[in-house]
Amino acid sequence: MNRVMKLFVFLSVSFVFLNSCNRPSEGSRKAGEHIKNIVSARVETIATPQSRNEDSADDPAIWINRQTPEKSIIIGTDKKGGMITYDLQGKELSYYVTGSMNNCDLRYGLQFIGDTIDILAASNRTYHSISLFRIRENGILDTLHARIIKSEMTDEVYGLCMYKSRQTGKFYVFMNSKAGEVEQWELIEIENKIDAKLVRSFLLGSQTEGMVADDEKGLVYIGKEETGIWKFDAEPGGSTDGEYIMQSSEENDNIKYDVEGMAIYDTGNGNGYLVVSSQGNYSYAVYERQGKNKYLGSFRISDGKIDGVEETDGLDVTNIPLPGFQKGILVVQDGFNYDGRKKQSQNFKILSWADIEILLQKNVN
Ligand code: CA
Ligand code: CA
Ligand code: CA
Ligand code: CA
Ligand code: CA
Repeated sequence: MNRVMKLFVFLSVSFVFLNSCNRPSEGSRKAGEHIKNIVSARVETIATPQSRNEDSADDPAIWINRQTPEKSIIIGTDKKGGMITYDLQGKELSYYVTGSMNNCDLRYGLQFIGDTIDILAASNRTYHSISLFRIRENGILDTLHARIIKSEMTDEVYGLCMYKSRQTGKFYVFMNSKAGEVEQWELIEIENKIDAKLVRSFLLGSQTEGMVADDEKGLVYIGKEETGIWKFDAEPGGSTDGEYIMQSSEENDNIKYDVEGMAIYDTGNGNGYLVVSSQGNYSYAVYERQGKNKYLGSFRISDGKIDGVEETDGLDVTNIPLPGFQKGILVVQDGFNYDGRKKQSQNFKILSWADIEILLQKNVN
């Protein structure tokens, strides 16, 4: 081989080698490298049954089994086909072929034909609708909606969260679209099925997705992917003037759009944390739940026994003690799931909240 050929072979081999160990979107990883608070996942779920190159997993919800906490489950959406349930060890329990499910959320204690049930709602992009499920005591999901509850939004259905009013006891589903339309649906019982009626809709004007309601305070947080987080009155008769959460935009050096999944960690007495995925730099921002939602700091989830987490869409958190997790868990979607150097399809990671609390107590960025 002449020198040019040798150089070519060397460069080709180097390129293949670098490609095999360089994970995707290194730029986004670098964008968050200044964030020094780091934790690792404790458990990961089985990967979705989709191709490793698909954006499949999206949003998790944690269902607590109050009788047998160790039998609590993680419910995750698969944008390429349905809903998946996992046990706390990450093992898949069931796969439900229900359509392209985007976001999901759940609430406990809905009165339904003389029974008290737990209910899961999910945004269904296949049918442009809200899918509703009863969560059985054994963690099995039963379809519950009386009909296809079709959205009136002009753009594709996208983000979703539930809200249980402390004022009226009513259950609601908030859903938004890629065009920033927001709908609020009230759940109603019709002929032994659950139906929903549209009680409010408003426009936010740019792409929305992540949402979470604070039932105790009667508030709903809505993330605009490329501007930050707004807080609204969650009652259907409430004002549609939002309050902007300071330091939820890219003016905060630790935030990089998109602003994605959000969840609330309750520490009691109306206090706690609002946890938000800052998707563009593979990190998570934490705000106070109370008052003006002061920004507290950010953290990343890096490689440990389990691969680190990148480009999180949805997340959920609970303060309920679970076996091995006395302070509860944070569950996040992982955009790039690796086992060693081998890329797998996407999955969800389970973190110990106690690990995150240590970072919050250090209170450093
Ligand atoms: Ca994604
Ligand atoms: Ca959610
Ligand atoms: Ca998104
Ligand atoms: Ca990963
Ligand atoms: Ca993995």
